[in-house]
Amino acid sequence: MPPRNRFAELLPEITAWRRDFHENPELLFEVHRTAGKVAGLCRDFGCDEVVEGIGRTGVVAVIKGKTDTKGRVIGLRADMDALPIREQTGVPYASKTPGKMHACGHDGHTAMLLGAAKYLAETRNFDGTVVCIFQPAEEGGGGGREMVQDGLISRWKIDEVYGMHNMPGIPVGHFAIRPGAMMAAADQFEITVTGKGGHAAKPHDCIDSTVVAAHIVVAIQTIASRNVDPLKQVVVSVCTVETDSPAHNVIPQVVKMKGTVRTLDAKVQDFVQARLSQVVEGTALALGASAEVAYQRGYPVTVNAAENTGFAAEVARAVSGQVDTETPPLMGAEDFSYMLNERPGAYIFLGNGDTAMVHHPAYNFDDNAIPFGASWYAGMAEARMPAG
Ligand SMILES: [Zn+2]
Ligand SMILES: [Zn+2]
Repeated sequence: MPPRNRFAELLPEITAWRRDFHENPELLFEVHRTAGKVAGLCRDFGCDEVVEGIGRTGVVAVIKGKTDTKGRVIGLRADMDALPIREQTGVPYASKTPGKMHACGHDGHTAMLLGAAKYLAETRNFDGTVVCIFQPAEEGGGGGREMVQDGLISRWKIDEVYGMHNMPGIPVGHFAIRPGAMMAAADQFEITVTGKGGHAAKPHDCIDSTVVAAHIVVAIQTIASRNVDPLKQVVVSVCTVETDSPAHNVIPQVVKMKGTVRTLDAKVQDFVQARLSQVVEGTALALGASAEVAYQRGYPVTVNAAENTGFAAEVARAVSGQVDTETPPLMGAEDFSYMLNERPGAYIFLGNGDTAMVHHPAYNFDDNAIPFGASWYAGMAEARMPAG
């Protein structure tokens, strides 16, 4: 039986899991209830090994195929955490916890991978081992990194890893992927400008850190517009500006600014980090002030390996017939990048239809996407490790 028919049968059950996760959202590494339910279900399915507490609250469920002649191991990953957003969907299974919400569809990802795990444990129609990876803290906590640091890849000898994310704006049941950079590296910076505060009516006795900061905001726009090859994507955004003066008649001593840098290429990332300090320090110096940049690297670029991407697209085509294989990369970031840095693999988008965007309070995962996503996860195992 092709997976898709089985997943149509399993749809009510998988949907019930999804809605239960939706009703009980948990943040970052605090996904105790979710992880407990995931582990319990995987044990009920008869998975060969279920281990909790990998990367603090991550869950790993191992399913062995009918045969294992080549020792191949494929990792399939879903994320489990929600967001600190007050839900506005009005659905009957809306969040029971005010201020927490599954607004990125990780409830759907977890439910679809559970559905695939149930099917794969029933059928075992593959030659090798599937490792289902349920990670915490995708939304900023680096749960994927923590699972990798906890030995995820080496302990289960994973050869390849595959991940999926739903995407509003793409029709339900359609897939989208690209080889190479799929999601950006997301770094953050804090700029501290120090001048000389004083009376606002005596600017000549001061070094106005606000004016210096304003020049810096404008000057660093030239990194994207003048310094980086226009065919390479880069974002440099200043998102907060804060002075140490609460008054309308005091020139502040210090201005602090925070922002983000997004890049799709490690060389561009290195360049932007170096250039940011040069422009900030040089601009401050020219205006008689001083400035420093604290730069912090975040999630790395999510890079799809070419061969694995082709395979992921083929499986998606078999599932739905609708695959965009040249979808543009997004400047958002994804914690799955840490797993893709360890092993080749691919990350694919699954359409969520014409809904609010992820991270919006009216967003909701579309349960009609479940048979497609679960079929893709299961199909990756069966097609990549075909039974003899
Ligand atoms: Zn998100
Ligand atoms: Zn997400």
